[in-house]
Order: sequence, then structure tokens, then C-alpha cells
Amino acid sequence: MYHRSHNPVFIPGPTNMPEILRKATDMSTLDHRSEAFHQILQPALDGVRQVIQSKDALIVTFPSSGTGGWEAAITNTLSPNDKILASRHGAFSHRWIDMCQRHGLDVQVIDAPWHGGVPLEQYEALICADKAHEIKAVLVTHNETATGVRSDVAAVRQILDTAKHPALLFVDGVSSIGSMDFRMDEWGVDVAVAGSQKGFMLPAGLTITAWSSRAIAANKEAKLSRCYFNLHEMINNYPAINYPYTPPVGLINGLKLSTELLLEEGLENVFARHKRIASGIRAAVEAWGLSIYAKDPLFRSDTVTAIQVPDNFDSGLIVKHAAQKYGVAFGIGLGDVAGKVFRIGHLGSLSDVLALAGIATAEMAMVDLGLDIKLGSGVAAAQALYASQETIAFKAAA
Ligand SMILES: *Cc1c(COP(=O)(O)O)cnc(C)c1O
Repeated sequence: MYHRSHNPVFIPGPTNMPEILRKATDMSTLDHRSEAFHQILQPALDGVRQVIQSKDALIVTFPSSGTGGWEAAITNTLSPNDKILASRHGAFSHRWIDMCQRHGLDVQVIDAPWHGGVPLEQYEALICADKAHEIKAVLVTHNETATGVRSDVAAVRQILDTAKHPALLFVDGVSSIGSMDFRMDEWGVDVAVAGSQKGFMLPAGLTITAWSSRAIAANKEAKLSRCYFNLHEMINNYPAINYPYTPPVGLINGLKLSTELLLEEGLENVFARHKRIASGIRAAVEAWGLSIYAKDPLFRSDTVTAIQVPDNFDSGLIVKHAAQKYGVAFGIGLGDVAGKVFRIGHLGSLSDVLALAGIATAEMAMVDLGLDIKLGSGVAAAQALYASQETIAFKAAA
């Protein structure tokens, strides 16, 4: 049986694919050592550089999901037993820490509350106390997809600069890049990691990484072993034959078009659209009488909202029921918040109108399951918000 559905998904990745991007990934066989491939790859990399608001970061795409980008970031810049600083405040920040430990890094882990982001005071205290500059890298999960909390990357950069600390700044932007404001240069990010299946609205299969000149310099000294995700080989092989191995040409063709779509819409408009859609989702949650898991309104994600369900109710039932009865996917709670929250993903190829469908479906599922929620309440709250705005209609390519 083929999977076919007219319904959009409301998981925070993989996201909905515009038809035009799906078609762009469907290509006849092309020699990746040909000039024709070069004509696809270079604009794709240039486009990514613009999306992350960088002038000259090195952009490298490895065939992999986003997780491979984490591995590329650490193994290409660090050496065994190097000390790094990281905060665990959700399932994704946890998994990156776990990977660092498995690679033999000495991770100073701060266990922070999951309803918040990177704990800036603790980062500041540890960075300022590290006079010997033993910390080689600082990790930030820009948008913790498990909890719907954004972290303040600029503030972490500020802490490093004020302390005159040379640690590299690594940022997981897998669920923010292409949807939320991300400033590689202004924030002094040394390695940024993204994936094709979130803000870029493509199938999974590419990790998209960006490297500062300091990260490239660190690569020359780094001793962790690496093989498939080898930055040095990629850099050296780009100009001549582009890849040391066979790249997914169709996906890269999709990435080229994806960046064109984002830049044509205008980054400001893309960010504003995500902000507006997110506000509608949050208005709906309030109208339902439920709580948004992310505590500080300033740091609520514009790409995913984790919604707390009443105690002694299993949030997973909502996700299961919505899938079975309505054919719509929402995100389950992950890690420490399994069963306690469900997530509405609202990033990528979404419009206000599609968001209303997601809100309406979540509402029906919760009412079906006996939660004390009034049908239409969340939809009405979001409608009021969307209708009150001077929106720029998203040119959803058919
Ligand atoms: C999705 C996601 C990842 C993992 O990406 P995969 O493509 O599933 O490997 C990492 N970090 C964050 C914040 C994510 O949202």
C-alpha cells in the first residue's frame, strides 16, 4: 500500500514539502563529477550561506541526517579528552552530549530545567572561571525541538567575548535554520548544523554545516578520528571534483531551489511568517486552557510548541488518536517529557490557513479523548490573531 495523504504534517521535522521542491529532488542520473553538477552545488552552497546570514562561512553538505552534522562538528575540530561545555535541557541537547561523550570528549554538562534554554548565568560562571582556557568548545542547541525552547546564541557569544575566551561556539540549528533568525557572522558561530528535512523543506538525507575560519583552523590540529565526515577531504575535493564520494544530487538540486524560495520570499518575511503562525498556535493553547511547556514567553520557539497536558493524562494518546482517526501527525513527548507534552511542529512550508487545520485537528482529538476543551476555541483564538494581521500571503508553490 502506498502512503498517500492530503493532510499536512505537524511534526517538527520532517516538514511538509512544497511540490516544487519534491520535483526538484527527482532528477535523472547526473555525473557528480560533471560541470552540470557544479552548477547545482555552488548556488546551493551560496544560498545556504545567505540563509544563515554569513559572508564567507564555508558551507559543506554531507549525505546524512542532522545528527551526522553534530559528529562532523566535533570530530573535525577537537581532540580526545578535550573539555567542552554543554547544557542538557531537552532530548536533542542530551543526544549531542551523549555523542560527545562517546567520542571521548570531557563534557562539562550542566543539567538545566527543560522548560528553559541554555542557562546563561552558569555558562558565564564556568567560562569566566576557566582562566587556563581548558574549554575548547561551547555547545548551544539553538532551538530545543523536544521542548519548544529557543536559546540565546548571541548572549553566549557575548559571554565568550567579554571573558576573552577562545572556545569555539558550536550551534545546533537543525530546527531553526531557514525558519528562525540565525546569524552566523553576527553571533560569531564557529560551526552551525542544519538538516535538509526541517526549515529547508526537503526529504531527509543531507546535513548542512557551516564553518568559520577559526573552525577551519582548528581542523588542522584536531586529532579525533574521522572518516566519512572529513572536512579536510571535502575542502580539498570541492574545487576539483566536488565530493570524495557520491553525493545525493537530487537533494542538492532541491537545496538549491529551497534556498532560492527562502530568499525570494525574503528572510525577514520567512521569519515573520513563522513568528505569526507560532503566535496563533500559542493563542490556541491558551484558549484551550493548557500550558505551553516553554516557560519564558521571550524564548518560546517559532517552529515548535510543546503543550503540557493535564496530570495523569498521557499526551501520547492525543498523537496516536489524531494519526488513527484524522490521519494527521503531531509530535510525541521525548525523553523526560514523554507522556507529559505533545508537540505541534509549525515550521517550513506552512501558512496561517494550514496552521488552522492543525489546531482544529488537535482540538478534535483532545475533545474525542474527553479533555475539557471546547471545540472551536483554539481555532477561534488563532483566527482572531491571523485575521488581525496584515499578512503577506505565503506563495505556497503548488
Ligand atoms: C531533528 C533534530 C536533530 C536531529 O536531526 P536528524 O536529522 O534527525 O538526525 C538534531 N537537533 C535538533 C534540534 C533537531 O530538531
